Amino acid sequence: MENPIASKKRTRQIQETWNASTKKSFGQNFIVEAGVVDKIAKAAVGDPDGVVIEIGPGIGALTQFLCEYAKRVIAFEIDPRFPPILEKEIASDHLEIIQKDFLEVDVNELLKPFAKNHTPVYFASNLPYYITTPILFKLFEANEPIAAITVMMQKEVADRFMAKVGSKEYNALSVITQYRCHLKRIMDVNRNVFWPSPNVGSTVLQFTFRTDQPKIDESRFVALVKACFVQRRKTLLNNLQSWLESKDKALALLEEAGIEPATRAQQLEVKDFLRLYESLTRLEPAWKDTADQNEPNESKQEGQV
Ligand code: SAM
Repeated sequence: MENPIASKKRTRQIQETWNASTKKSFGQNFIVEAGVVDKIAKAAVGDPDGVVIEIGPGIGALTQFLCEYAKRVIAFEIDPRFPPILEKEIASDHLEIIQKDFLEVDVNELLKPFAKNHTPVYFASNLPYYITTPILFKLFEANEPIAAITVMMQKEVADRFMAKVGSKEYNALSVITQYRCHLKRIMDVNRNVFWPSPNVGSTVLQFTFRTDQPKIDESRFVALVKACFVQRRKTLLNNLQSWLESKDKALALLEEAGIEPATRAQQLEVKDFLRLYESLTRLEPAWKDTADQNEPNESKQEGQV
């Protein structure tokens, strides 16, 4: 591509022409290296007839390449200064720009028409660091299909998503994400590739949804995993005892799942957490019945008063 936006020179030119300095409050760090955006766009777009949804196009460094590889790109930008710049500087009929905070977008409504006509949807973004997790969880929780999500994020956060069992980065976020998705590291990116350059390194990760997992009540699973990691140094017995408000229940649950009470959460693989969840769903109805039996009925209460 001739004279790409993703270069120091063109970025400076556009910012001067449009009097559009970067705003820290919106996490604006523009990519100024064409090779990097090319690689992200290539990895992100699985099918040129699919639709690409970009979150935070900025002045268009990545957008320009996405428009090369896909026939339809929808870009959501929170900063009202940028849509006119994108319209003028990219001027592609592949591009539709929506000025909106993506956190306020109803993702299911957005995806429905594409699901209806079986158009694959790809998300691509160089995300502002402070909204990486909320944006990703919003996408993970969508009910409609997403073909792939390719995002640039802080390297440290990417390492947590990818963390292997037993490592110090492995936490509830790793377990919940690895339960939902296959993850692929597309590349690590040096901080000099951005203008202005951030204090930390970045990584591009790609998430595709797993279809081989059992159907479960995800919110309950998430609550269980978070409870197991509440205090990393403590044993599962300790953490589950606090969550279930009973040592007996915690012991029964661990025994049902065949897990030693002295184990710590970071030693469990995703499949172990699933076994723990399944054991919980088997035991909970009996716990509920016992609780119901122990509850005083109305006449007794009246008698007591
Ligand atoms: N894509 C451009 C690039 O790679 O050079 C810009 C990336 S910059 C890290 C993040 C962009 O996201 C900025 O343009 C910022 O204004 C935008 N942004 C921040 N919060 C947003 C939100 N909640 N919804 C949509 N866009 C947002």
